[in-house]
Parts: sequence; structure tokens; C-alpha cells
Amino acid sequence: MNTSAKLKGIHRISLPTPFPIGPVNVYLVEGESLTLVDAGPKTDEAWESLKTQLRERGYSPSDIEQVVLTHHHIDHVGLLDYLREHGNFRLIGHPRNRPWILQDESFYRRWYRYMEELFHSGGVAESLIGPNIELHKLLQQFNCRTDLDGEIAEGDEVPGMPGWRVKETKGHAQSHISLYREADGLMIGGDHLIAHVSSNALIEPPYPGEDERAKPLLQYRQSLRSCLDMDLALVLAGHGKEISHAHSLIRERLAQQDKRALTLRDFLSEGEALTCFELCKRLFPSKYLEQLPLAMSETLGHLDLLEEWGAVKKEEKGGVFRYRLGD
Ligand SMILES: [Zn+2]
Repeated sequence: MNTSAKLKGIHRISLPTPFPIGPVNVYLVEGESLTLVDAGPKTDEAWESLKTQLRERGYSPSDIEQVVLTHHHIDHVGLLDYLREHGNFRLIGHPRNRPWILQDESFYRRWYRYMEELFHSGGVAESLIGPNIELHKLLQQFNCRTDLDGEIAEGDEVPGMPGWRVKETKGHAQSHISLYREADGLMIGGDHLIAHVSSNALIEPPYPGEDERAKPLLQYRQSLRSCLDMDLALVLAGHGKEISHAHSLIRERLAQQDKRALTLRDFLSEGEALTCFELCKRLFPSKYLEQLPLAMSETLGHLDLLEEWGAVKKEEKGGVFRYRLGD
């Protein structure tokens, strides 16, 4: 089946965001229900752009019958608040979206405390911790405050979209799912795979009932590998262009991660035990200050990978962890 036949009834709508990643793609799917996959950030610019692009296809926001979320990040969900004001739709997603899109107060309090501890135990200078948490709080202005009306998880059929199933693709976010149509290998992949940049495996706090955080890079690699077993003819991504070479892109991403982990191992080969922050500064010398939570997530993720390989061990002193090469 050629690409245009595959994409019949599926429209990419690109919306502006105020974030470094640039525009976000949401997808209008004319299925049994008129579905929007993801919503965009909560800005007037994104809202105007969404209305215009819906109008060009003969629709208005109130025609949307359901919104399916690929994950909870603010560039994908914020605009739900505007949509709720202008229509009556069912919001469907993985249950892990809930605390984030609700901006659940106790969850957020624990998240900020966890982030603070994570930075502290990673050796981040105290003077950098407060401002980064404040920045995170400030970004919530682009988030929504709403709840799911229905939950979907691995293997479920996507309501209102016959032929589509949920494929959990954890790693970039704990709430992350992709929508997959087996008949023709089409995937709406959210931020699982992006053609022009590598997707980050972001550290999240333990969820209610859990003692430890997930290891997102290890999860992400597993999600990527499991996609190698699937026929992926075309992946519609949350940012940038559609991906027609998903398997080779996945192999490229896995190899980049291996390489980055080996770079970290080389930093440790001089023998000195180093904190995550010291390693982060070496890995991202020009970017670490500007994007500290992202850079720390990336470094910690690759340290998780080295630990998994048995290549490093970590030691704790005064609440700060240091890594050195394994025996
Ligand atoms: Zn995302």
C-alpha cells in the first residue's frame, strides 16, 4: 500500500510551541469517532493554529469526539483546557497520564522533592537546584488541568479507531503509548521515535505505591528493540517528519546510546570516582547549564546502562553518589 493510501483520513496538524523542540504534531483521524491524537501546548498561538487547520479540513473544535494521548508532556496536552471549553469529547490515555494532567498537588510536591534529592545526590551545586525547580514550576502554565475519561494500555483496541491497537512504548515517558495499525504497519508514535533528534528518556519520580524510580533509558531501549519485531512501514512522529525507515533509525539510536555509555566509561577510566553532575558537565559542556534536568536525565540514564552492564559501581558518601569503574 502506498503512503497516500495509508494516510487516507489521517491529517497531520503541526502546532507551534514555545519550547526548544519546535512545533509539535497532532493527528486528526477520521475513524469511527473523529479523533485527535494529542493536543498541543496551552498557548493562544497553538489554539488559533489548531482552529485554522481544523477549519481547512471542514471541522471545528466542537466536532472532535475524542482525544487520545500518546503521553503527558505539556507540549502534547496543554491545549486540552481550551478544547474542554469548546466541546465535549472523551479523553483517553494511559493511566500514568493522570497525576501529570491533573497537576495533582501531592504528586507534584513529591516530584519536586524527588527532583531536589536527585540533583543533590547527583552532586549538582546547591545554587542550581532551586532555580531549575522554579523553572519547572513556571512551565506548568503551558500544562492543562483535566482528567482522563477512559484508560487504555498495552494490547487494547483504541476506542473509536477500528484496527488500531495500543503498543506501550515506555521510556521517553512512563505514560507513553503508540497507536499501531497492524494491517498496514502504520504507527502514530508520539515521541517514541523522532527523525531529526534522539528522544530523551526522562527520569520521573516513583509513582504512588512504588519505592524506586523506573530506569527510563533501559525501558526505552527495550521499547525500541520490541519495535524491531514489528512491521513498521511508516511512523507518524510527535515532532518532525514521518519516518519510513524506522528499523534502521532504531538501530542508529541504540548504537548512539552504546557510544554515549562508552564515553562515560572512558571519563571514569582515569580512576577518579565522579558524580553524575561532574560526568554531565563533561558530556554536555556547552548545554548542561541551559538544560540541566534534561542533561542530568541523559547522564543518569547512561549510568543506569553502565550499571546494568556491570561496567560501573556507585558509592555513597554524605548523601552524594559517585561512580567508578567496576572490577
Ligand atoms: Zn514528550
